[in-house]
Amino acid sequence: DLGSSLRGTLDKLRGKSRISEEDVEEIVKEIQRSLLSADVDVSLVMELSDNIKQRALEEEPPAGTPARDFVLRIVYEELVDLIGESTELPLEEQTILLAGLQGSGKTTSAAKMAWWFSTKGLRPAVIQTDTFRPGAYDQAKEMTERAEVDFYGDPDGEDPVEIARQGLEETGEADVHIVDTAGRHALEDDLIDEIEEIEAVVDPDTSLLVLDAAIGQGAKEQAQQFDESVGIDGVVITKLDGTAKGGGALTAVDQTDSSIAFLGTGEEVQDVERFEPDGFISRLLGMGDLGQLAERVERAMQQTEIEEDDWDPEDMLKGQFTLNDMQKQMEAMNNMGPLDQVLDMIPGFGGGIKDQLPDDAMDVTQDRMHTFSVIMDSMTDAEKEYPKAIGASQIERIARGSGTSEEEVRELLQQYKMMERTIKQFQGMGSDQEMQRMMK
Ligand code: GDP
Ligand code: MG
Repeated sequence: DLGSSLRGTLDKLRGKSRISEEDVEEIVKEIQRSLLSADVDVSLVMELSDNIKQRALEEEPPAGTPARDFVLRIVYEELVDLIGESTELPLEEQTILLAGLQGSGKTTSAAKMAWWFSTKGLRPAVIQTDTFRPGAYDQAKEMTERAEVDFYGDPDGEDPVEIARQGLEETGEADVHIVDTAGRHALEDDLIDEIEEIEAVVDPDTSLLVLDAAIGQGAKEQAQQFDESVGIDGVVITKLDGTAKGGGALTAVDQTDSSIAFLGTGEEVQDVERFEPDGFISRLLGMGDLGQLAERVERAMQQTEIEEDDWDPEDMLKGQFTLNDMQKQMEAMNNMGPLDQVLDMIPGFGGGIKDQLPDDAMDVTQDRMHTFSVIMDSMTDAEKEYPKAIGASQIERIARGSGTSEEEVRELLQQYKMMERTIKQFQGMGSDQEMQRMMK
């Protein structure tokens, strides 16, 4: 099992606080093996490993962070960066077009996605335009019946474009229209022409490329072709209940500059998940609990910070400003008073610079602070550490978990962004020396 050998390599770093070039080489090799066996494109793997190598050797681990944890975090961050958050799909009226080769799982995914939208209180309809595959109509009809969603198709129709046009008209009561298309065994010109014509008639808000998890190096060409013809906004990976890890989807995401929308995990209409980077990354690397590991790293780092005399306002001005920092800052404000007073405690920050803060940048009222704190308790440590990766589905979960509204969660993220910008401005002011000089 590749995951266990990667873990073994990482474990060898246990207890070390410095990481050697050899250590980094060894870890990067293990990661390469894991990713390649998960069908991730070779050049992508190289790019990733170069980034990991460079960062692991150049960046300073935060004080007290073990080398192993530090490298693990970099690996995790780089993958999150590449994979991104799930494709944005607003819970409102919209049209979605599905593209992909025959057998990739389009029809199944159409019914699954319709079911998923119906659980969100929307009224979805699937429009089947496949006149190519015998039985396509019956299959879609049966699946949408199981999903209990609206359906339009024409068992005798011969013109997919006409069926699409008619379908949109006939399913006017629905608010989410999912247009299923025909595939072929390979990328043939007539398939591309057909889907281009359908796209023109349907005018989708989102076009999703459906890929079998087992797709390997073929992902690139498919992604490129479909992107050129209809423009791909996101990827659906199917058959993740099998042994394939879906690394080809990364190629497609990279090629189309898009993201992953849904994961298919079985043949039933309910076997669908909205994409979340954490689980997917763990699976790719063959490490079942990478998310947990990352959280452990997080806790360890927090622990170290706590041991180093609670929260030091000066830390905020170093490195990455995260939601953890914001939480600590808010807690500190409870103990120390408002932020401008806290800033007074930082040597060299007493006077002028502080006045350059936008008035509302650090201003969080007690009530809001309480709400924010409740919200942050429902976030995972990884989310607090990488707030940028928090997407619509996480916002929904966090709001549900904390008994607040999605609006409030978004407000918190807004506040965080504003603070982060402000902190960055400070950091941008240059070295401590320059700042000291400015203060005089
Ligand atoms: P299409 O030709 O792109 O429309 O593909 P279909 O939706 O007809 O799917 C092709 C085959 O893959 C069918 O037998 C589906 O039951 C199966 N399939 C689709 N998605 C999944 C999945 O997530 N898991 C499993 N195990 N099978 C799937
Ligand atoms: Mg089909």
